[in-house]
Parts: sequence; structure tokens; C-alpha cells
Amino acid sequence: MYRLQDAGFTCVHDSDAPHGEIAVINTCGFIGDAKEESIRTILQFAERKSRHQLRKLYVMGCLSERYLTELSDEIREVDRFFGKFDFDKLLEELSHEAPSESQYKRKLTTPSHYAYLKIAEGCNRRCAYCAIPLITGPYKSRPFDEIILEAEWLAGQGVRELQLIAQDLTYYGIDLYGTNRLAELVEKLSYIKGIEWIRLHYAYPTDFPLDLLRVMRERENVCKYLDIALQHCSDHILSAMHRHITKQQQTELIETIRREVPGICLRTTLMVGFPTETDDDFQELMDYVRQMRFDRMGAFAYSEEDGTFAQRHLADDVPESVKQKRLDQLMALQQQIADQLDAEKIGRQLKVIIDREEDDYYVARSEFDSPDVDPEVLIRKDQTRKLQIGEFYQAVITDSENFDLYAKII
Ligand code: SF4
Repeated sequence: MYRLQDAGFTCVHDSDAPHGEIAVINTCGFIGDAKEESIRTILQFAERKSRHQLRKLYVMGCLSERYLTELSDEIREVDRFFGKFDFDKLLEELSHEAPSESQYKRKLTTPSHYAYLKIAEGCNRRCAYCAIPLITGPYKSRPFDEIILEAEWLAGQGVRELQLIAQDLTYYGIDLYGTNRLAELVEKLSYIKGIEWIRLHYAYPTDFPLDLLRVMRERENVCKYLDIALQHCSDHILSAMHRHITKQQQTELIETIRREVPGICLRTTLMVGFPTETDDDFQELMDYVRQMRFDRMGAFAYSEEDGTFAQRHLADDVPESVKQKRLDQLMALQQQIADQLDAEKIGRQLKVIIDREEDDYYVARSEFDSPDVDPEVLIRKDQTRKLQIGEFYQAVITDSENFDLYAKII
């Protein structure tokens, strides 16, 4: 978007492209639901194009990368489909000029006080159910110095919170430098002036870089927060998923993380209904969730993805109704755990950042809450004090309800 603006276009990150203008749809091809949402969006825009409400319509991203020929044949209203990384081709198509190189500058589509910072693309892990390595290719770390430059540039634009992302954060550096450099990167980022929070998303448990834990413990602006997808706990399911870890190793890792970074908030993702998952495996997973008491949890029902090992070699043998029932049970259990953990926070003082205003409330987050996926901290507006979006305040938690916390500024 930054490069398009550089070429003279005005860009809005909005699903309501102005009448008669150009729309570029970014798609996701990760799992069935995401693919359906992408297709639905393309069809909505194709309809607008056929009613002459749009001048041009382009589609890019993972789904387009994977099914370029099929989509081009099926949806004729789209002027052109591009692959996930075809930014130069899109720029050439639109501006008919050699594209400018911005390297790391970009237009933010998040509120101006936080930004996602991608440190690598692709994945080398090859989990049996996952299509991501097939779409994005092998792991490719971004150069260390380039990430630092981008973070400094973002800080200069007013960004105060960085969300570090990659398909697999914990492999950073191995492909490019022959050694894991995640801890070093996070530590260096933590010295950038103006960056008050650094949050880590998408860690992988096998070969976890333990030196990262010292940085998380010692550097105050590295959030005590880690998003680490475990997917399951039953040994035979972990093995069938090609996760290269056992239940015991996984449990020991979680215990180590909690011991080395006291008070850390752990978010995980789990999957139900993977081929061969029995009722016993599922009960084992429920017991594990009870035992581990993750602060946050997301869960998916397995969906068979084209070209993956599981799709080619394993029968999708858990009925959809069973998958859904297990998913509902797992989420209901996590809701109970989250309610208990939230109730324990009442009376506690936390630093919060204000994300936005909504009706009678300021909507804020603490270092334990990532935007969009985690609960929010709601602060009732008070006539005597106006709070600033993107500013940090000290708050005391007064109540909890339905996954969200209520607080007062102190
Ligand atoms: S680590 Fe994540 S992105 Fe990589 S293959 Fe496994 S699930 Fe997919």
C-alpha cells in the first residue's frame, strides 16, 4: 500500500472501495473456513464489477497463489489474479512504471499505535495437516538489520507496540545465519526508543530457543506473553501430526517457560478431530487443558487441505458432527478456566493501552492481551478525565464478565 501511494494512488484499507475505483483483495488459503471467506469476498466484489461499480478488480494472497489457474478460469470478472508475493507485478499492472523499492516502509492498516512486524515468511516444519509450507515455501528469515530498520521507522511514525509475527517465530535466523537469532533480535528491538511493548506470536514448541526466556524476563518492554500453538497432547496424535514432540516434552517446556518468566500469559491453539482421534484422545486433551490452565486458547476442527500429508495419506475419519461437538466442549471448558483466571485479576493493577472509544467505554488492553484475538479491558468514560487513544495508563481491574475485564484508571 505504501508503494502504491508512492506511485500516486490513494489507498484505503476498507472493504467498501469507493464507487468506480480499483479493488485489490488479499486472500487467505490456510483452512476451509478461510478459503470460503476469501471466495465469498471475491464473489461479492465480482458482482460489483459486473454492475460497473468498480473499474478494476484484482486478487492476490495465498488462495490466489495456490489456485491461480482454477480461479482465473472460474471468476471472469476479476481482471487479474496474482500470487502471494507478486507486489511488483501488481504495481506494474497499475502504474505501468518500474515499481519503487521501499524495502520496509509501509502504510499501517492497524491503529497508529501498534503494528505487526513480520520477521520471516514460510515454514520448514511440515505439520501433516498444514498447507502453509506448500503455499509460502520454505522458511525465509528477513535480514536482521532490515527488521531493526523497519521497527525504528515504525517507532518514528508513532508506533508503540510491535506484534512480532511469522508462521514460525522460533526458527528465526537458522536458514539465514545458521543459528537461532530470535532472542538477540527481540533484545535489540527492545532498545528502540519509543517501543513500549513487544509481543510474540506463533512460537513452535519443538527446539524452542530457551535463551529467549531470559530476554522476556529481563526486558521490561517485552510482554510477558507468548502465543505457542500446541495442537494436541496425545502422543499418538502428536506423532501422526508430525509435530516432532511428545506430551512430556511439551509439558516440560510449558513448565520451564512458566518458571523462567513468572506471570507469563500463555496463549495456545489446539485442533480437534485430526484423523484417528478417538474419544480417549479427546478426553486426554480435555484433561490436559484442565491441568495446564492456559490463559488463552483458540481451537479448530480439522479440515482436510489439498496436498498435505494428512490429505494424501490419512482418511478424514472423524465425522463432522463429532468434530463440532468436541470443539464446543473444549471451548466451553476453556471459557470456565478463563472466567476463573479473570476473576483472580480483580483488584490487580495493570498498565493498559487505549485502543479505541466505543459508546460509554474506552476499549483498552494490558500486556496480556493481543489485539483482535484476546479479551479487552473496558474502562467506563468519566466526565472529569479524557483518555488518549494510543496512550498508556495504570488501571485497576474492578470486574470481569464474558471474557472481558472492567477497570478504572488510577
Ligand atoms: S509450524 Fe505452523 S505453519 Fe509450519 S507447518 Fe506447522 S502448523 Fe503449518
